[in-house]
Amino acid sequence: MNHDNSHALFQQALDLMPGGVNSPVRAFKSVGGEPFFAKRAEGAYLIDVDGNRYVDYIGSWGPMIAGHAHPKVIAAVDAVMRDGLSFGVPNALEVTMAQTITRLVPSCEMVRMVNSGTEATLSAIRLARGATGRNRIVKFEGCYHGHGDSFLVKAGSGMLTLGVPNSPGVPKTLADLTLTLPYNDFEAATRLFDDLGGDIAGVIVEPIVGNANCIVPAEGYLQHLRELCSKHGAILIFDEVMTGFRVALGGAQALYGVTPDLTTFGKIIGGGMPVGAYGGRRDLMRQIAPSGPIYQAGTLSGNPVAMAAGLATLELIQAPGFYENLEARTRLLRDGLQQAADAAGVAFTTTGVCAMFGLYFREGPINGYADAMASDGARFNRFFHGMLQRGVYFAPSAFEAGFLSSMHGETEIAHTLAAAREVFADIAAG
Ligand SMILES: *Cc1c(COP(=O)(O)O)cnc(C)c1O
Repeated sequence: MNHDNSHALFQQALDLMPGGVNSPVRAFKSVGGEPFFAKRAEGAYLIDVDGNRYVDYIGSWGPMIAGHAHPKVIAAVDAVMRDGLSFGVPNALEVTMAQTITRLVPSCEMVRMVNSGTEATLSAIRLARGATGRNRIVKFEGCYHGHGDSFLVKAGSGMLTLGVPNSPGVPKTLADLTLTLPYNDFEAATRLFDDLGGDIAGVIVEPIVGNANCIVPAEGYLQHLRELCSKHGAILIFDEVMTGFRVALGGAQALYGVTPDLTTFGKIIGGGMPVGAYGGRRDLMRQIAPSGPIYQAGTLSGNPVAMAAGLATLELIQAPGFYENLEARTRLLRDGLQQAADAAGVAFTTTGVCAMFGLYFREGPINGYADAMASDGARFNRFFHGMLQRGVYFAPSAFEAGFLSSMHGETEIAHTLAAAREVFADIAAG
């Protein structure tokens, strides 16, 4: 594979942008080597500036559940943009979007559109704090909620010690307000609430952790968090920026039958445009400006072009059998990869829910963050580059989930598995 054009662009970019990229994981730091630059994308494929084609298992980190450049999404954007790109006054598509979200996710009685997942989570914790009059936020090891100061915090040394910033620039006084729990540990959550329950404004959790590879909740764990929050008057926030419309039409909350107070969205609801949203109980959402005193605003929020792309995508995913097909294809991929690894004698396991999956270079089961982190990173990196050379693009990090779209058919999966058989054999050979 020739990468001359990507290489030239990356050399220029390195001088102009931090790390040559506009978001860190794109730089391939964790797997080594250089990123390729996309020229275009169609269906299940990314095509780079050197003309190489890749089966894409990232889908722009989640949004492209209907495949790249879906004709219906492109047509919807095309139609709307001719009437103007932004109005700064309300438009009808915002109402349709709010109707669609509140219908598909009944825990969201009202919704506010924003421009990214980060904005959605920041706004949701402000609302939790404003509504409860409390300051502490609880999050979980391995969960990612965007780059807001309150989330760039890791656990201190004892269970109840205060959070420690994990990025320079995050004030210690703010980090002190973020408490971090081990995901899937029932007892740790109970103890924290017993000690500090009255100070906790809200708990924010990825109901399925997709930012530390892919960790599925233990049976009853989300219910447990629901009960603790209800008992102690804390707001339960499901960060469904990744899982929303990905693991089921109603998101992880529909799949596990747990009702959060607030939910954050992003990725799929924008269909590839920059969009986020948060929604939830009417009595909470009414406290947001201008109907209430908790401030949150956005110049481009509810942008018509973004709404059109999102709505067209939300239309496509409501087709009968959409999730059943996605799940069956993802199963085919996961089972095929497992068989290829087993045949080569490489320790390997997969996790996943519907069209979201994790790959691990170790034996299962994967019950929590420590299990996920114990995957063999060096082996993953060989796998990543071996697959990339064969035209298959998985996430350039051992700790990110992968995604299928409805355009990933048997041809793409067969190509992927043929490549994987060769790569696993190489890895086994040492
Ligand atoms: C991607 C993601 C975010 C951040 O969304 P951005 O649009 O990148 O700001 C927040 N939470 C979760 C769970 C995510 O996967």
